[in-house]
Amino acid sequence: MKFYIMTLFPEMVMQTLSASITGRAMDRGDLLVEAVNIRDYSKDKHKSVDDYPYGGGAGMVMQAQPVFDCFESIRNRIEGSYKCIYLTPQGRLFDQKVAEELKTEENLILLCGHYEGIDERVLEEIVDDNISIGDYILTGGELPAIVMVDAIARLLPGVLHNQESAIGESFTDNLLEYPQYSRPAVWHDREVPPILLSGDHAKVDEWRYQQSLMRTRERRPDLLQ
Ligand code: SAM
Repeated sequence: MKFYIMTLFPEMVMQTLSASITGRAMDRGDLLVEAVNIRDYSKDKHKSVDDYPYGGGAGMVMQAQPVFDCFESIRNRIEGSYKCIYLTPQGRLFDQKVAEELKTEENLILLCGHYEGIDERVLEEIVDDNISIGDYILTGGELPAIVMVDAIARLLPGVLHNQESAIGESFTDNLLEYPQYSRPAVWHDREVPPILLSGDHAKVDEWRYQQSLMRTRERRPDLLQ
C-alpha cells in the first residue's frame, strides 16, 4: 500500500512520520508515504489556495482548483486501485476496525483541509470516504492523516519489528489489553504478578485473558456490549 497525503504542510507530515517505527519502515521501503503540497498546484501568482466564503462568515475556504489539480497529478501516477479520503470532523469515526478495513487498499489518498474547510464542489468530485478522528475540531487534517497512517501502517507486513505485537492489542476482539510489566521484578515495593514469572504459558494466557476482561469491564464497558 502507498499513502499519498494532500496537504498544505508536507514537512509537518513527513517530519512526524520519519521518526521511530514508521520512519524506519519508510527507510526500509516497507511503508510508502508521499506528501504532496496542494500549494504547488495554485495558479495564482501569489500561490494562494484559499478565498472568502460565498455567503459571508468567518474564515477562509480552500479553493477547488488547486485541490483538484493536485489530486489529478496523483491519480495520473497511480497504478491500480485507490481510495480518496477527506479528513473531516464530519466523517465517520476512525477506529481499529476502520484501520483493519483500510489496510487492504492498494493506494490511499488522504486529503487534509485547513481554515474553514474545502470548497464542497471538489469534495463531491474526488472524495470516496469522509473520516474523522474524533468529535473535536483541529486546525487542519495533518494530525488526523498522521494518526491514520500510523494506525494502518502497524497492520502492514514488515512495519513492526515483531508482527505479533499487533496481535492481541487493545480493541482486538473488543477487549483492552492486559497490564504489561518489565524488569525489575520488584519496583517501589511493587511486585510483578507471580504468575508472569512462573514460566507456565497456559496459565499466563488465562491470567492475561481474565485481566483483559476485567480491564475492559472497568474502563470501556461499551466494548463488551
Ligand atoms: N469548518 C469545519 C467544520 O465545522 O466541519 C471545520 C474545519 S477545521 C478547522 C479545518 C480542517 O481540519 C478540516 O477541513 C479537516 O481537514 C481537519 N479536521 C479538523 N478536525 C478534524 C477531525 N476531528 N477529524 C479529521 N479532520 C479534522
